[in-house]
Amino acid sequence: MKRIGVLTSGGDAPGMNAAIRAVVRVAIYNGLKVSGIKRGYQGLLDGDIEDMNVSSVGDIIHRGGTKLQSARSMEFMTDAGFEKALNVLKMFQIDGLVVIGGDGSFKGAKRLANAGIPTMGIPGTIDNDLEYTDYTIGFDTALNTVVSAISNIRDTSSSHGRVNIIEVMGRHCGDIALYSGLAGGAESIIIPEIDNGVSETCKKILEGKHRGKLHSIVILAEGVGKPYELAESIEKNTGMETRVSVMGHLQRGGTPTAFDRLLASRFGARSVDLLIEGKKGRAIGIKGSEIIDMDINEALDLEKTVNDELYELAKILAI
Ligand code: ATP
Repeated sequence: MKRIGVLTSGGDAPGMNAAIRAVVRVAIYNGLKVSGIKRGYQGLLDGDIEDMNVSSVGDIIHRGGTKLQSARSMEFMTDAGFEKALNVLKMFQIDGLVVIGGDGSFKGAKRLANAGIPTMGIPGTIDNDLEYTDYTIGFDTALNTVVSAISNIRDTSSSHGRVNIIEVMGRHCGDIALYSGLAGGAESIIIPEIDNGVSETCKKILEGKHRGKLHSIVILAEGVGKPYELAESIEKNTGMETRVSVMGHLQRGGTPTAFDRLLASRFGARSVDLLIEGKKGRAIGIKGSEIIDMDINEALDLEKTVNDELYELAKILAI
């Protein structure tokens, strides 16, 4: 292993820069050369690759987004595109690769690993939708952004005695909604994995109103959809004015929290250590406070589950 490549792929996530920084610096510390691949797999296909040194990753640990930029590439998913990617890696003499991204990016990394390229997957996505790891890079920052928004909306919600629906990211995985709803004291949390119906949400809101609560916050994961229809149903069933706020891309940006920076730095370091050890296809993660790694095929086979304990606790605390 003489030269490794690093790329960020899929949706950007705060903390990706801290991971790039760790990969580059730990590699150089160990005498390796590093190629920075721009715009994910698409940049790899386009040969948009540059040498990185210790200063290339200076002054980025505190920045959201990704210095290497990110992209989604349809071409890489074709057989011809994949073959081209293998050729580009050979041409640039890249012996091992670190892919920072979500589950889609991991599928690409798995394909490369299975084709014989030592490839490490670092989970970088705000969605926290990979089962094998407790946390992905960016989730904690997104969570804190949402919790801060809930506090702001709660003020105006109380002043007007309104219901506020806050739509947060999460197409298939409701972790942002669940964790932020619990941390923000929401009355109701609606996630794609559990069908709790409009009537239960309305019941919670009315119970709160009857005991004199001034505000009602409903956290809705985007995968459930139709926030404005939900608002109409709530108004009809509770008689309370209901407003919708969509968090959108606000959740994806911002300076990464200390938790995400630490996580990213530790993941980055482990990925380089594994490449040096001669490992082929590993997914890096955290379980409890331990950094772990497992076969990337096995990691992707695990189906993401809801944290039932947190879900039940959120319901109890919202009585
Ligand atoms: P996020 O969780 O933020 O959406 P992601 O990594 O899941 O991030 P995707 O758009 O699903 O984002 O995937 C990123 C890129 O990974 C795709 O554009 C494609 O180039 C590659 N990719 C996705 N799925 C596969 C696959 N099955 N085989 C090979 N490459 C894939």
